[in-house]
Amino acid sequence: MKRIAVLTSGGDAPGMNAAIRAVVRAGIASGLEVWGVRRGFAGLVAGSFVPLGARDVGGIIQRGGTILGSARCEDFKKEATRLEAVRALNQNDIDALVVIGGNGSQSGSYALSEMGVKVVGVASTIDNDLYGSDITIGVDTALNIALEAIDRLKVTASSHQRAFLVEVMGRKCGYLALMAGIAGGAEAVVIPEVETDPEVIAEEIRLAYQRGKPHAIIVVAEGAEYNAAALERYFEKHRERLGFDLRVTTLGHVQRGGEPSAADRILATRLGAAAVEQLLEGNFGVLVGWIKGDIATTPLKDVVSKTKPLDLSLLKLANVLAK
Ligand code: ATP
Repeated sequence: MKRIAVLTSGGDAPGMNAAIRAVVRAGIASGLEVWGVRRGFAGLVAGSFVPLGARDVGGIIQRGGTILGSARCEDFKKEATRLEAVRALNQNDIDALVVIGGNGSQSGSYALSEMGVKVVGVASTIDNDLYGSDITIGVDTALNIALEAIDRLKVTASSHQRAFLVEVMGRKCGYLALMAGIAGGAEAVVIPEVETDPEVIAEEIRLAYQRGKPHAIIVVAEGAEYNAAALERYFEKHRERLGFDLRVTTLGHVQRGGEPSAADRILATRLGAAAVEQLLEGNFGVLVGWIKGDIATTPLKDVVSKTKPLDLSLLKLANVLAK
């Protein structure tokens, strides 16, 4: 193995740059030549390669986003498009590829590995919905950003006796909402994994008001059937019953944009370096993730076919502590 390439794909996650840096410098330290691919799988198909030296990845460990750029490339689901990517890799004498990304990206990695490409995935998504890693790159930072917003909203909510519906990201996974709800001391948490009766949430808000709480914070996952907009529509008809005045805040992409936390920089650094080790050991077609406090590899076949369960006992805990 002489020349490897690295790309970032799907939604950007704080810590991706630290992972790129680790792949580049660990690769160079092992005598490899490392190339970056611009704009994820779209750039791979277009043959958009750029050589990366140790100095090219200087000063990026503390930066959010990804210096390589990312993209969503629907066409990559087509074999004909992936064949173009394989051709581009061969034309540029790339022996192996590191794909830093989430669920969809690792489906792309798996599809490439099934076509004979030597691929190793690195677990990176703020959604934390990836099988094969207890925690993924970007989650810690996104959680802390959501938490800071909740803390701030609590201050203003308390001053006006308001209830806030705070919508956080996470796609179909409620991890971010649940953890932000626990850490932020929310009165209620709404996640996609558990069917929600909006009437129950309305009752929680009303009871919080009756108990004399100065505020009520309801953390809502964007992927829940009753997301913040749907809950607001429902509550619109029953406003007077809530007691509190109601406001809605959708955090959206603000959660992605932060500088990576120490935990994310360290996780990304370790996973990036471990990905290079796997390539050198000839262990292809795997995801490098973090399981039970250590680096672990999982076949991409399992990563794309299995789902990571959410610990729902934590939802019960959140509900108990909200009283
Ligand atoms: P995040 O969830 O953090 O946004 P992700 O990696 O899950 O990250 P997606 O948009 O789902 O993001 O996927 C990224 C890209 O991976 C897609 O745009 C597409 O190019 C590729 N991809 C997704 N699913 C497949 C698939 N089944 N086969 C081949 N490529 C895929």
